[in-house]
Amino acid sequence: MPAGLRRRVSAPPQDLSPLTIFALIAIVALLLTCAIGLVVGTLAQRAENRRPCPECGELKLRFVEGISATILVHGQRAGDDWSLHECSACGARLKDHRGTWEPPSDSDLRHFLPKNSTTP
Ligand SMILES: [Zn+2]
Repeated sequence: MPAGLRRRVSAPPQDLSPLTIFALIAIVALLLTCAIGLVVGTLAQRAENRRPCPECGELKLRFVEGISATILVHGQRAGDDWSLHECSACGARLKDHRGTWEPPSDSDLRHFLPKNSTTP
């Protein structure tokens, strides 16, 4: 083995060039941006899910089912949305229809059942 090659392999690393340092900083900044975005997104999602139960006031509402759809009202298309929630503190079952709490209808109650259950 030539002496030059052997020396190159065992030599300590050269000083980093400015381009390499810039690339490393850019990669670290990109990773930090992704990590911060992930943390902020997770916190925002948790804050959104922490609505107080209108029955007991506890932050124990669990999202069960929901939909956002377009419906026809007098021949005009209009947005409609609803979601079903169950409180793990007091057991209340509630329907959020366009931001207003109301009791779920009989047909909504099936959504509170376990997916493989056929009896209430
Ligand atoms: Zn409750």
